[in-house]
Amino acid sequence: MLGRSLPEPLGPLDFDGFAIVDILVDRGAIAKIAPAGAVDFGDAPEVELSGRIALPLFVDVHTHIDKGHIWRRKRNPVGDFPSALQAVIEDRGANWTAADVAARMEFSLRSAYAHGTAALRTHIDSVGAQTRISWPVFAETRERWLGRIELQASPLFSIEFALDSSHMADVEAMLDAHGTGILGAVTYMVPRLRQGLEVLFDLAERKDWELDFHVDESADPAARSLKVVADMAIERRFERRILVGHCCSLTRQEDDERGRTIDAVARAGISVVSLPMCNMYLQDRAAGRTPRWRGVTALHELKAAGVNAMIASDNTRDPFYAYGDLDMMETWREGVRILHLDYPFADWAPAVSASPAQAMGLDLGVLREGRRADLILTRARDFPELLARPQSDRIVVRNGEASNAAPPDYAELDALKGLAP
Ligand SMILES: [Zn+2]
Repeated sequence: MLGRSLPEPLGPLDFDGFAIVDILVDRGAIAKIAPAGAVDFGDAPEVELSGRIALPLFVDVHTHIDKGHIWRRKRNPVGDFPSALQAVIEDRGANWTAADVAARMEFSLRSAYAHGTAALRTHIDSVGAQTRISWPVFAETRERWLGRIELQASPLFSIEFALDSSHMADVEAMLDAHGTGILGAVTYMVPRLRQGLEVLFDLAERKDWELDFHVDESADPAARSLKVVADMAIERRFERRILVGHCCSLTRQEDDERGRTIDAVARAGISVVSLPMCNMYLQDRAAGRTPRWRGVTALHELKAAGVNAMIASDNTRDPFYAYGDLDMMETWREGVRILHLDYPFADWAPAVSASPAQAMGLDLGVLREGRRADLILTRARDFPELLARPQSDRIVVRNGEASNAAPPDYAELDALKGLAP
């Protein structure tokens, strides 16, 4: 087991940072974690794992389960960001009834559950009539999944909408009735960026809500809204958690400018999530031209500055990302390759569990005595074995028992409008 998945290291760690331990599971909970062979567990039945890797369940802090799985009826014609935005606007207006959103959310969560996710935050497109359609669906879904996946949600709209008081009244009402205490928006360089942010910070302070922003999802080095968000959090001494996602343009800026922004993000205590699969898909795409850039943010530099840095799934089979299945093992595999989250691997393993759990305010992502025996068992014995294969044969253990949940059949979506082949 990875030393960093434990509250404190147990015994010597190997080259990769793993500790070899025995785990006593009793009535669905972790009763004891001890160095291998150090404690006699009596005649408790044993499962010999022979030093194979056990992980805490995953935490997926940035997803869009309201958008997921619409690809078949609304493709991205060229695979770039503006086309994704336009395609989703069209599909949302035409098809996102409560029943449609509910069915696709359920499909997404069944996949996440089968792959071993314990908690998930989604963004909810919150513009026009959609706001009052999707939030009640999210609340019902959250209720239905209690005890299986801990769900949080943040509203998603362009920052300029924050200056529209009737829009904000709708958002506030829906969050009051159905939200999880998180407010958010998409920030980019518009003339009234600061005014829009002030509205959101004001509301979050008044309500004691957290904030979650989509920030600078752009290759343009002039996209600098991250610095504006961080400076505002510092100026206002904002005390609740803030999470920002994407921040792609940060890697396109000059070193000193990037350094100043990272310093502000660290001082503001903001957590940063990179979405490596979606960013690599959308960024630096032009027909007939090979991409030169991986699209991801300066995650290493952020982490080195003390920022809580992590990765997440983002979109699944929609115009923003044609692939994906809310499998954090895939996100980890791809994240290691795209972002070089190795050397040492152990530094970055919490990026799919303990770090996002911290950003969500949840005590997950670490295996502790007294907690539910929720873990993922693999055949791998080191990181290259773990990350070389998709771990399709992983065993997800929940409450001390192997789960037999499988991802749903795509054909289950055929009943929805426009999704049958
Ligand atoms: Zn996103």
